[in-house]
Amino acid sequence: MAFGWIDEQARLRRRAGLVRTLRPRAADTPLLDLASNDYLGLARHPEVVEGAARAARTWGGGATGSRLVTGSTELHAELERELADFCGFEAALVFSSGYAANLAAVTALAPHGSLIVSDAGNHASLIDGCRLARGTTRIAAHADPDAVGKALSGHDGPAIAVSDTVFSVDGDAAPLAGLVAACREYGAGLVADDAHGLGVLGEGGRGAPHAAGLAGADDVVVTVTLSKSLGSQGGAVLGPARVVEHLVNAARTFIFDTGLAPAAAGAALAALRLLRREPERAARAGAVARELHTRLTALGLEGVRPDAAVVSVRAPSPEQAVRWAADCRAAGLSVGCFRPPSVPDGISRLRLTARADLSGAEIDRAVQVIGETRP
Ligand code: PMP
Repeated sequence: MAFGWIDEQARLRRRAGLVRTLRPRAADTPLLDLASNDYLGLARHPEVVEGAARAARTWGGGATGSRLVTGSTELHAELERELADFCGFEAALVFSSGYAANLAAVTALAPHGSLIVSDAGNHASLIDGCRLARGTTRIAAHADPDAVGKALSGHDGPAIAVSDTVFSVDGDAAPLAGLVAACREYGAGLVADDAHGLGVLGEGGRGAPHAAGLAGADDVVVTVTLSKSLGSQGGAVLGPARVVEHLVNAARTFIFDTGLAPAAAGAALAALRLLRREPERAARAGAVARELHTRLTALGLEGVRPDAAVVSVRAPSPEQAVRWAADCRAAGLSVGCFRPPSVPDGISRLRLTARADLSGAEIDRAVQVIGETRP
C-alpha cells in the first residue's frame, strides 16, 4: 500500500508518547505567553500592524513573483538598506524565511570541494544547508573554537564555519570571537545565524556579531530571521556587498522562491524603526530572561544560564516534559516543550521565552505556575 510504511512510524511515535499535534491559537487567548519568539512584544504593536497593512495596501497581498522577476519592490530595497545599516554590514538580502536565508548562505558559500565545519548544536536550517551544499561537512563539538580550528586545518580550498550565535534549545551563546579567530587562522569564512540575537544582544539589539565587534567584517556573513524580535516573517543574509551579489546570482532559495510578502516586509521595517527609537526593549528582554532563570534556579530547577531571551528548564523525561507543559497550559501559562527527536542531546526541556513586555506580575505568575506544576 502506498505510504504504508508511515503507519509503522506513527505507531512507534504513539508508543513513545512523541506524537506532535497542532493547536490552533485563538486571537483572544487568555494564556500568558512564554512560548512565542516575539521577544520584544512587537508582533501586535500598532505601528508594526499598520506597517503590514500599509504595505499590503500599496503593494498587494503577495510579492507576485521571484525577486529577480517582479518580486523586488522598493519596500524590499528599503528594508535591506535599513537592516544592513542597523546591524553594521555593507549589504543585506531579504528572503521569505530565516530557513531559506540559512539554506542560501550555506549552499552558496560551500561549493564543490569546499569544507563546512558545523557546530553540533546548530539549528535544523543550518544542518539542512550543510546537507544540500556541494561541500563536505564536518561536525565540530558544541561551542568549541579549538574543535573548529582542528576541523579546518589541513583543508585545501574554500571553507566556512557555521554556527548559531544563540543556540535555540538552551539559549547559550556561541564564542564568536574564538570562532572567527579559528576561521582567520585557516582563511575560512564564518556564517553566523543570529536568529535569536538580533533585537536582544548588542547595542540596542544590533545582534551578537555587532556585540562581538564583527559588524562589517569582510569574512563574516550573518543570517537573521524577521520572525522573532521583529515580530514579522521572513529572513535575511547580511554581509559584504560581494557576498550579497553572489547570493543574488547563486542562491537557489533566493532565485527560485517568491519574494517576501510586502506585508511582512512592511511589518519588519516598522519593527526595526521602533527598535531604533526604543533601544531599551533589547536589554529588557535579556534582563527578563536572567530574572526567570535566577528565580527558577532558586526553586531548585535546572537550566543553562541564558545569554539572550531563551530560557531552558530541564525536565526528567520526555513524558514528564509534555505533562509539565500541559499542566502549565491548564494553569494559564503557555510554554514551549522541547524533547526528542527535536533535541540532538536527547534531553527534554521546557523552553521559555522572555519578552521585553512582560510585567513584574506576569513574571511572578510564570515562576509560580512552573514551580507548582513541576514533576
Ligand atoms: N535559525 C534559528 C536558530 C531558528 O531558531 C529559526 C527559527 N526557529 C530559524 C533559523 C528559521 O527562521 P524562520 O522561522 O524565519 O524560518
